[in-house]
Amino acid sequence: MTSANGSIPPPDASPEPRQAPDQVPFETFVALPKTDLHVHLDGSLRLDTILDLAKAGNIDLGVTSARELRLAIGCGRHFGSLVEYLRGFEITLKVMQTEEALERTAFELAEDAHRENVRYMEVRYSPMLHTQRGLKLTTVVEAVLNGLRRARETYGVKANVIICGIRNISPESSYQMAELAVAYKNRGVVGFDLAGAEADNPAKHHKEAFQLVRDNNINCTIHAGEAYGPESIAQAIHVCGAHRIGHGCRLREHGDLLHFVNDHRIPLECCPSSNVQTGAVRDLHSHPLKFYFDLGLRVTVNTDNRLITDTSMSKELWLAHTAIGLPFNEIKSLIVAGFKSSFQPFHEKQAMLRRVTAELRGFNEQGERNEAPAEASHPIASPRSIPAE
Ligand SMILES: [Zn+2]
Repeated sequence: MTSANGSIPPPDASPEPRQAPDQVPFETFVALPKTDLHVHLDGSLRLDTILDLAKAGNIDLGVTSARELRLAIGCGRHFGSLVEYLRGFEITLKVMQTEEALERTAFELAEDAHRENVRYMEVRYSPMLHTQRGLKLTTVVEAVLNGLRRARETYGVKANVIICGIRNISPESSYQMAELAVAYKNRGVVGFDLAGAEADNPAKHHKEAFQLVRDNNINCTIHAGEAYGPESIAQAIHVCGAHRIGHGCRLREHGDLLHFVNDHRIPLECCPSSNVQTGAVRDLHSHPLKFYFDLGLRVTVNTDNRLITDTSMSKELWLAHTAIGLPFNEIKSLIVAGFKSSFQPFHEKQAMLRRVTAELRGFNEQGERNEAPAEASHPIASPRSIPAE
């Protein structure tokens, strides 16, 4: 999380990892240009904002301080299962039921990302979870788009939206979310996703929703292989037509499918810390990220939930380096994979990629800035430094 004064706090005092002397320092990871393609709006609020919104809306959260709230949500805790991990969202959703709250939380998420030099993000959420107090679905979508637009105008950080259906609600509601994605295509929405409890809720039940989005040439990604085996990933790709896979931790259990994903360059949205907290992997050391990377898969690193997982993009990349063991040069390749895997139109993606690769060339293998930095290199993006696209 970004602290209230806007600085990026160093990683917390958790026992892993220890930084070896030859490892690149955390500050370098903050300075790198980055993407975040898998980040949930309702899991990425600031603690102070939740308290503020609760006070303004007279909402009883059962806690009064940021410390108590952090404990109630379990920020950064090892929950052991996805279902337990998801409980924190019941708290955040309570304060995300007004237009103002949605606009503000979307803006602040993009602001926090900008402060650690994230250049492009795809923010996902399910509009139907924000109608508890009578908001129209269209009002929900527009409030979030407005917040992201304001962040772009203020800071230059570019953010698009992925609309989610929820596995454990109903196929009908997923279809309704798919219709919203169709309605807002080319208006800030770039994709459709299926989130929620994976076990016992197969993606094929939501096939019609995916058919609708694909008939409208909209990109889709599906959370799969996180709380269920590789069958779930196969179904996401072959039955629902997913263009990317959220997590995919258990893909390594199925060699044939692993190679299919590799051959078709289907990107994986890995979220290392979250994967440990939900029990999808035992610890960071046993995370398949490095194995996938070495095999040639297109892997990206993402936060999943900045608040609930207690993380940032800089921290996830730093952990990929220090705890998972990817050399700094390979971290740069992961970053490039993030830009390549975005759901932006090809030419916009290409333009962004060109600028970012020039910037990345400004860092040598040890993570130090080259003496003559590439032209586009700068520590933190300013609105002027990123041409409108
Ligand atoms: Zn997720």
